[in-house]
Amino acid sequence: MSIWYCIFGGIFAITVIFLVTLCCFQKKRNQELEKIIFVDCITGGSTYEKFKRDLEEYLKKNNKQICAVLSIDVDKSKYIEEIFGSEEYIKAINYVWKALKEETRENEFCCHRDADQFYALFQYKDEDTIKQRIEAMYDDIREEIERGEIYYDLKISVGVYILKNRKHTVERILFRSDVARRTIKGQHDKLYAFYSDEIKQKQIRNKEIEDRMEKALEKGEFYVCYQPKYSTQSKEIVGAEALVRWRMNGENVIPPSEFISLFESNGFIKQLDKYVFEQACKDMRSWLDKGLDVKPVSVNLSQMQLYNSNFIKEYMEIRERYELKPKYVQLELTETALFENTVVLENVINQLHELGFEVLMDDFGKGYSSLNMLKNVEVDTVKIDKSFVDDIGNNKRVERIIATIISLVRSLNMHVVAEGVENEIQYKFLNLVECDEIQGFYFSKPIEAKEYEKMLKKKK
Ligand code: C2E
Ligand code: MG
Ligand code: MG
Repeated sequence: MSIWYCIFGGIFAITVIFLVTLCCFQKKRNQELEKIIFVDCITGGSTYEKFKRDLEEYLKKNNKQICAVLSIDVDKSKYIEEIFGSEEYIKAINYVWKALKEETRENEFCCHRDADQFYALFQYKDEDTIKQRIEAMYDDIREEIERGEIYYDLKISVGVYILKNRKHTVERILFRSDVARRTIKGQHDKLYAFYSDEIKQKQIRNKEIEDRMEKALEKGEFYVCYQPKYSTQSKEIVGAEALVRWRMNGENVIPPSEFISLFESNGFIKQLDKYVFEQACKDMRSWLDKGLDVKPVSVNLSQMQLYNSNFIKEYMEIRERYELKPKYVQLELTETALFENTVVLENVINQLHELGFEVLMDDFGKGYSSLNMLKNVEVDTVKIDKSFVDDIGNNKRVERIIATIISLVRSLNMHVVAEGVENEIQYKFLNLVECDEIQGFYFSKPIEAKEYEKMLKKKK
């Protein structure tokens, strides 16, 4: 009997020890797993998963309190990595984290999401207090950078969603703070944006545009207008810019400002740009066949196209299909597009030059590194941005800048065009400082192809 007691007792003891060990092991494993899921390895703070869980719990417990959800993103952070290396990039992420953490008070929480994104929940008193806290955080970040070994300009964009009721899911709440943030992304002078009815309407409108865009292209709702460019000296037409318009459902005409940036973010711009290019080639072919003295037309090219390895081949094929000499079609690239891809770009421009395309740098002066662009990228023509031309006649300093840009560009054997010329004072000044060409409402607004055709003379 006692032997059986011993045997059973032993088995029982071993089982207990085994189960306890297993439990400990499981607990440790769970703790490790939790650490992986909930602790961010760059900042040591919460992960996005943890933040979502905290937010859900918070909303359950505090179902009456108004609060603010912040979505924070570091603008152009990949340049910090590219220029100063990944060590400095990690430091930059931690500068933001430190500032955010310091600004986060009792009953508030925050997290670092992968790459350069952060979220926070702040208590809400009023909008001004939230704005002040964001500004304070931004000041802290800049102070941190100043204390560091390498100095650079780090800009954040913050989207704020004020949570007044609890009818939305955590995902929807975070999405709304993201949407608000995206409205100011890349705008150097805006630090924060609050989600509003206006943004909601814009979202609905964007959805409508996205639902219709493919069909619209098939149905020929997009069409091309031409804005003539004039020689400053002779006042004769020397070329034109092709500008797209959308006649939605055969009704109102929608300007590019309503859809270009959306198409750039969803990729549809590649198809649209190609369509505009082909349309311009088709029009020029028909004008040449009618014996008109056709001037070169420049077509806008989105920076997205630079990543499309087929685009040069596709554009060449179109130009050849309409049997156009290379001089007739030029390509306009915005200065910001140029800046973002200097290496890719030099390569693309070389290839375009080899195939006889002329390349124009659009909106010169709008970006932050215009002189660097001139140094690195060999374009044929520079188009001075309208924002400079606007100041002619009331800002002597800007006038001097324009005069200097023009002489600099000309000394580099490039052509120079002024955009957005609206009055005689601007025209006279640009003539005086020897700007080659003028494009603007003073001479002509963008007009439909039929009208532009009438402006072209018969070839002698
Ligand atoms: P952009 O390429 O810089 O084109 C010049 C814009 O300035 C045109 O606006 C033109 O109508 C406007 N403009 C010209 N002169 C004056 C003036 O004297 N006063 C004023 N207030 N405005 C003037 P639009 O046609 O609305 O196009 C806006 C932008 O949309 C273009 O700026 C270009 O960046 C983009 N865009 C237009 N068509 C296309 C396209 O086919 N593809 C791509 N990727 N972008 C396009
Ligand atoms: Mg342009
Ligand atoms: Mg422009």
